[in-house]
Amino acid sequence: MHRSRKAKIVATLGPASTDAATIEALFRAGADVFRLNFSHGSHDDHKARLDKLRALEQSLGRPVGVLIDLQGPKLRIGSFAEGRIALEAGAPFRLDLNAGQPGDRRRVALPHPEIFAALEAGATLLLDDGRIALKVEKCNAESADTTVVNGGVLSDRKGVNVPGVVLPLSALTEKDRKDLAFGLGLGIDWVALSFVQRAEDIREIKEIVQGRARIVAKLEKPAGVEDLEAIVREADAIMVARGDLGVEMPAEQVPAIQKRIVRVCRRLGKPVIVATQMLESMVTAPVPTRAEASDVATAIYDGADAVMLSAESASGRYPVEAVTMMNNIIVQTESDPVYVDAIAASQGPARAEIADAIGLAMRNIAELLDVAAAVAYTSSGHSALRLARERPRAPIIGMTPKLATARAMALVWGVHAVLTHDVAEVPEMTDFACATARREGLAGPGQTIVIAAGMPFGAAGTTNLLRIARLD
Ligand code: PGA
Ligand code: MN
Repeated sequence: MHRSRKAKIVATLGPASTDAATIEALFRAGADVFRLNFSHGSHDDHKARLDKLRALEQSLGRPVGVLIDLQGPKLRIGSFAEGRIALEAGAPFRLDLNAGQPGDRRRVALPHPEIFAALEAGATLLLDDGRIALKVEKCNAESADTTVVNGGVLSDRKGVNVPGVVLPLSALTEKDRKDLAFGLGLGIDWVALSFVQRAEDIREIKEIVQGRARIVAKLEKPAGVEDLEAIVREADAIMVARGDLGVEMPAEQVPAIQKRIVRVCRRLGKPVIVATQMLESMVTAPVPTRAEASDVATAIYDGADAVMLSAESASGRYPVEAVTMMNNIIVQTESDPVYVDAIAASQGPARAEIADAIGLAMRNIAELLDVAAAVAYTSSGHSALRLARERPRAPIIGMTPKLATARAMALVWGVHAVLTHDVAEVPEMTDFACATARREGLAGPGQTIVIAAGMPFGAAGTTNLLRIARLD
């Protein structure tokens, strides 16, 4: 079974997508990678979903990618005596460190001393995804007196953003460290790190992960966007996390930032996910708005590797319909002749490196000979990534003897991952690639395929061989 599109779909699992039948329906509708969001739910909830995903993988014989998303240093207010309050514009409101004291109309706890240390009079605090704005009038190490700029209802434990202020926070909280250890113990493929501010944050998590999973850096803070290129180089993939990004920065800047991030990732050949609110109205309606359909298509035209569903598939009323809709928009967009030119434009020149030279050559061969498939026989996935960077029109088969690599490639543009056994010699590898292309329904007798591999087989990052073969 293979998909008839190149870009991938990441679907977040949650209360609306916990039973095995729904998870299977999401996969069949088009979800390639499943996201377990550790901002919500217990370890038992996540493990139960992962068990179902692994059972599904077994029964379908297809690698399924799993991404755990760590909450990161998401700042939150405390609770209110009444659960919620109404704030009116112009009213005074105080934030303080008294975590033990329930909030009321005049104050609430903000149990993060590092915020008070970094705040200055005149700064803006955004609460509840930016719906409520407070202006700091004066502050000290324990509290801040503010004036409500945009009022509204504020309820328990809502998120707080402090745009433009670089907080001296590690991207990994204590909770993240526990969640990460738990996820690594379960065996997952991708770990997403939230609120990345610098490349150093990625190095820090890599120290812990030690190659047991690949790292997605979520760009959702101005500091992260400023250090874009260094972060993209350090991470294995990037997420344009537009939810928090659009709170931390003015919403009107998000489209240009999205394009800039995608472009840098395309140039460097790192997978990039565009995320959040893509089909938001499908949380409550069976069809998206036209603007949402256009938003998904735009990410595809920009050349993104994957688009993501959050609440739509995790807690909405129409999880399967949302994946189906996303699938249909991608298929339609990719069939537009303009698409090919559009993604070529975002790519930039290849590096003067062997794997890139082979990827580029494969793309040209694929066009010239109209090959049925471009096969990367890959251990780490590196050859498949460099080939995917060239965005060939032919289907890419990522053949690998490593299950972890097959699962990880589920996120990468165009790569149809197939788990195989080890091979020792080139003729065996060639026969195997031909048989695989045929078995997967991607090539038939008389058709040509082009194959990249690295000798010696099994060593990572050794791409050095290009072979053209005809199926008999
Ligand atoms: P979140 O990240 O859903 O974990 O907040 C995505 C975003 O901020 O867009
Ligand atoms: Mn976020």
